[in-house]
Amino acid sequence: MSPQARKDTSEQAEFRSYCRDWLSQHDAGTPAVRLPQSAIEIMHREQLDYLRRWQGEAYAAGLIGCDYPVAEGGGGRKDCQRVANQEMARAGKPFLPNILGLGMAAPTLHFHAQPALKERLLPGLFSCSDIWCQGFSEPGAGSDLANVQTFAERKGDKWIINGHKVWTSLAHFADWMILLLRTDKSSKYDGLSYFVVPIKAALGKGVTVRPLIKITGETGFNEVFFDDLEISDDYRLDEVGKGWQVAQTTLLHERGAGPMVTPSSGRGSAKASAVGDAYGLIDLAKNSLRDGQCAADDPLLRDDIMQMIIRQEGSKQGARRAKVEGLCEHPMRIPLQAKLVMSEIRQDNAAVAIDILGAQSSLSINDDNAPAGGEWPLAYMNSYGITIAAGASEIQRNILGERILGMAKSK
Ligand SMILES: Cc1cc2nc3c(=O)[nH]c(=O)nc-3n(C[C@H](O)[C@H](O)[C@H](O)COP(=O)(O)OP(=O)(O)OC[C@H]3O[C@@H](n4cnc5c(N)ncnc54)[C@H](O)[C@@H]3O)c2cc1C
Repeated sequence: MSPQARKDTSEQAEFRSYCRDWLSQHDAGTPAVRLPQSAIEIMHREQLDYLRRWQGEAYAAGLIGCDYPVAEGGGGRKDCQRVANQEMARAGKPFLPNILGLGMAAPTLHFHAQPALKERLLPGLFSCSDIWCQGFSEPGAGSDLANVQTFAERKGDKWIINGHKVWTSLAHFADWMILLLRTDKSSKYDGLSYFVVPIKAALGKGVTVRPLIKITGETGFNEVFFDDLEISDDYRLDEVGKGWQVAQTTLLHERGAGPMVTPSSGRGSAKASAVGDAYGLIDLAKNSLRDGQCAADDPLLRDDIMQMIIRQEGSKQGARRAKVEGLCEHPMRIPLQAKLVMSEIRQDNAAVAIDILGAQSSLSINDDNAPAGGEWPLAYMNSYGITIAAGASEIQRNILGERILGMAKSK
């Protein structure tokens, strides 16, 4: 029995057994194309269709949206999404592509949308018939998110939107967007309101999506321009001027503290990829040469790999510690530090891989001779984005310092 299964309630144990049976009988099939390393690097329709089909099947089987009310398209269970996630990862199933929808839009809708809106939107989000993206960042509003300037002007029961969002992951495929907008220029925080927008339906009618090409050649994120886009007031979440408070729900989930509130995010799981993982470095070293010898025999490299495994395992144990009453003095500390710690570990893992590969790290995924399919150099380049997305490491450290350690606020 796995350590996770040992703590199951009777409902979770029964559900775990159901998940295992279903997952053992349902294969996602072999993709016809190379899959990206994560959802925010989906570039091609074929990649999306494969992953989308898998999410749809998992939802139909009850493995997604488990803890949401039945009326919202969920399974009406209690604390079972965690179980489904563990079992999908254990079975090595593909990752769920609607990551921004499951991880952020769904809990935000659940807590802040009118019943009719969430009942309309959540089933399509869970099944992946609708892809979601997040329109928060702007050229002048990243770390200082409350500086959002994209403006929504009220005209009766409609809003007219003008402005420019940037770094919008998955917008090139998205049907819907969660959108933080300024509705009052006289107040920074109270001048923000929160909306959902059917961006695919509005393409060419007030919305333009322009992909940004990354150093890796991938088009993971985009610029999104709004020119007099008209939307109904029915798409507003919570009250006018309460956008900052609604955005805190989204950010709490984006930064990994979502499972502390219910329903759990239903972010779903990814196949445990050897790329980016410290244990994957062992195989890479065994199959690489260094000064004509097997790289795994180099004592300095062996030490680097061990250090990464220790850090990775330490981080996992920390996450377990957060669940044991009395062992964690501040329950939000570990979830809040998870994104910071894991993104930096993955970046350092990839740096060790580059060291192991030496000159061969210049071979990309398009080169037939690239060791391990060229995935490690790609992971190395993408790892820099992960330490910035969802709040840069410096900002995460500020949050931990101020909110957990009680240090003086940064100016
Ligand atoms: C891969 C990726 C995917 C993304 N996806 C999305 C998305 O889907 N939707 C979306 O809305 N946004 C998305 N973003 C944007 C992301 O949220 C912002 O990049 C991030 O919040 C940082 O903002 P910025 O890029 O404007 O940098 P800035 O805020 O300009 O920061 C620049 C540097 O200054 C530092 N800094 C700024 N303020 C402080 C401070 N007070 N104290 C210490 N250091 C500070 C930062 O840490 C950083 O190193 C994505 C970004 C990446 C990299």
